[in-house]
Amino acid sequence: MERREFLQKAAILGGAVALAPDLLASIRFEEEVHQSAPAVKHGLSGKMHLRFFPYELELTHTFTVATFSRKTTPTVQVLIDYEGYTGHGEASLPPYLGYNTEGTMAFLRKVDLSQFSSPFLLEDILTYVDTVAPGETPAKAAIDIALHDLIGQLCGRPLYELLGLDPAKTPSTSYTIGIDTPEIVRQKTLECAERFNVLKVKVGYKGDEEMIRTIREITNLPLVVDANQGWTDRQEALDKLHWLHEQGVQMAEQPMPKTQLDDIAWLTQHSPVPIYADESIQRMADLPKIKGAFHGINIKLMKSTGIREALKMMAWARTEGMDLMLGCMTETSCAVTAAASLSPLVDFADLDGNLLISNDLYDGIGLEKGRLILPNRPGLGLIDIKK
Ligand code: MG
Repeated sequence: MERREFLQKAAILGGAVALAPDLLASIRFEEEVHQSAPAVKHGLSGKMHLRFFPYELELTHTFTVATFSRKTTPTVQVLIDYEGYTGHGEASLPPYLGYNTEGTMAFLRKVDLSQFSSPFLLEDILTYVDTVAPGETPAKAAIDIALHDLIGQLCGRPLYELLGLDPAKTPSTSYTIGIDTPEIVRQKTLECAERFNVLKVKVGYKGDEEMIRTIREITNLPLVVDANQGWTDRQEALDKLHWLHEQGVQMAEQPMPKTQLDDIAWLTQHSPVPIYADESIQRMADLPKIKGAFHGINIKLMKSTGIREALKMMAWARTEGMDLMLGCMTETSCAVTAAASLSPLVDFADLDGNLLISNDLYDGIGLEKGRLILPNRPGLGLIDIKK
């Protein structure tokens, strides 16, 4: 990248953190540029530049699940420049995932794309990135997403099209109502009941039945629930699932701790609603271990290391006769749009992460009466709303 262009972009990034001034210094000093050898394939001759900067997402509501609550989520935004195009990626780092901004940026600094002649060499690049260090799945996802966005832009086609997917087949996304007082739950339900077709409710704590009843005072929309490992007794969990089924619940995520796989398998055998794995799985290598214990899996790009491995997980799950769901973290429209690009393949989508923040960086995935609408633009089709 030209020095002048770099400075222009740095200035834009500086503007982007006006809401979080403490990050400004780190953006200026932490931004990294890696240059690669000239590309020789696909008729392109540019260089790949990997850049990244920390960006703190501000949540519109304090987010509470069975085990924690928080008001912000750290992310690291990744950009890969090539041939005048910029692919965008994102590492979302909610504390429960076990990764942080410093570790993510340290990982990204180690990534050297100079050995690759073209961003089209996805399999080689992502296999290499996976070997740079163990773990660090959000950082790996960020690179994967940026490369997919970049390739789409270079081809001049939306990513979903390159993946062979029909944008008319995107599902509705559920919208999550976090644990809160009945008054706030009532208010949140009123706010979203007209805009969404499925609501997701966090359960697995003492007041969860009251929460469901409060929502049911307002709307009869289908519900999905997520216990986040909150139930430890399988019979109690089954009784609860029967009650939830009567309340119009269509699916339950991770009812019991991942350490209680045999109990989960028993629950799956007896449950009136499908049981999906979330905390029990991260990546492809985890899937054989949960075979037979769940009806379906919830795939999240920040855990799967991105789109490429998510597709492999999807193929495995379908081969095993399992259902599929796509989830997300609190993320900007960058990572949510990346996940939504795969959504024509799934039974449930829980891709509301961008709707839960007040300082999104991009215009990307849209909603029409609760259904995900993919932008008809090259790559992820993101528009930088700070420009
Ligand atoms: Mg979950």
